Amino acid sequence: MNSATETIVIALTRGRILAETLPLLEQAGVQPLEDMACSRKLKFPTSMAGVSLLVMRGSDVPVYVENGAADMGVAGKDMLLEYGGDGLYEPLDLGIARCRLMTAMPEGASETGGRLRVATKFTRIAKRWFAEQGRQVELIRLDGALEIAPAMGLADAIVDIVDTGNTLRANGLAPAETIAEISSRVIVNKASMKIKSRPVRAILERLAAAVPAQPL
Ligand code: AMP
Repeated sequence: MNSATETIVIALTRGRILAETLPLLEQAGVQPLEDMACSRKLKFPTSMAGVSLLVMRGSDVPVYVENGAADMGVAGKDMLLEYGGDGLYEPLDLGIARCRLMTAMPEGASETGGRLRVATKFTRIAKRWFAEQGRQVELIRLDGALEIAPAMGLADAIVDIVDTGNTLRANGLAPAETIAEISSRVIVNKASMKIKSRPVRAILERLAAAVPAQPL
């Protein structure tokens, strides 16, 4: 990054995705100049001149990147599917924070054939998925407290992220159908890809080289 106009802002997802993204960025030569996990700041300069990092919730990352408030971002595929649209490039799968977006029901339960009540924070994904299958559902939007919704009579099923399955099991639920395999992706603002092509492509190439070979 040797031109003052070529500043690059990268929006990162806080939490486990941040923890798995930072080592890849470091291998790509982009290291925050202070500990992002311990700071209350949201913007950090890095070891690479002109490149700064933002940290935020995953659902905010595509909003920053699509609107050009950040040039690049890292977010879970779940957040990108839920955000929708085609206003972003998604050039690189980092292969980190792997999990599945699944339906889950109480252990031993089966669908009765009536209108299923489904609790989820992924309402767009769930709406599309059930509609594709011609299944009638009532979607109940929740931001947390999902896994307890069936036991409390609020819903018949949930759509949520599953990694080990421990959270489901601890709440008497069993995984049912896989809606999508999830991992974290690099996204790029469409204008930045053109106007800042050189630095953006340089970072993408370095990141791609840092990503371990992925199992087929
Ligand atoms: P687990 O009990 O290991 O199946 O983890 C499930 C919970 O952890 C879910 O409720 C998710 O909120 C969270 N979680 C696990 N993996 C991820 C991930 N890669 N991205 C976002 N959330 C995750």
